[in-house]
Amino acid sequence: MTVSDTRYTDSVVAAFGNSCLYCGKELNSSVSPVVEHLNGMNRASVGLHVPGNVAMACKVCNNQKRNDDQKLLLAENGWESFLSHDGSRCGPGCKTCAYWRGIWPEDSQRLQVLTETRQRVQAFQAPYGQFIQWSAGARDTLRVKIEILYRDCQQFATDEIAKLVADVNLNFTDSRTLKSRD
Ligand SMILES: [Zn+2]
Ligand SMILES: [Zn+2]
Repeated sequence: MTVSDTRYTDSVVAAFGNSCLYCGKELNSSVSPVVEHLNGMNRASVGLHVPGNVAMACKVCNNQKRNDDQKLLLAENGWESFLSHDGSRCGPGCKTCAYWRGIWPEDSQRLQVLTETRQRVQAFQAPYGQFIQWSAGARDTLRVKIEILYRDCQQFATDEIAKLVADVNLNFTDSRTLKSRD
């Protein structure tokens, strides 16, 4: 099975309806629906485009989650961390907690909705346990490779920046030499 199989898209709709999997807003053109990776395809989460990790979200939730994905403060999984900001575990400045508070201002209701949403995601992922397990294994291997890639890129950037700066210094010295000859 792949993510583009109708059996898969049907199971996404069965689990979340035509709604953002996080905030529950209806996915019409006013919320700019996006394909969402429960574990983001980024350095921290290393999510993969496999069944069980792909659903639909609204653009605002997608952006909000991307911020939280940089830190993964409350859980190892991106979706789980994002949906755990119920206001009881972070400092007063937490932007993700503030985001959920904006949608469900009442504490007990917010706690309940976020808990239910996490349970819904777990139930949705249950039939795809094999993919999820395989992804977790691949994630560990990929993390090592990604860290090496980052280190190499940083080294490359450092070297190139040093060269650029050296060139500028050289031009500066040249122009001074020329001027002093005048
Ligand atoms: Zn949303
Ligand atoms: Zn928070």
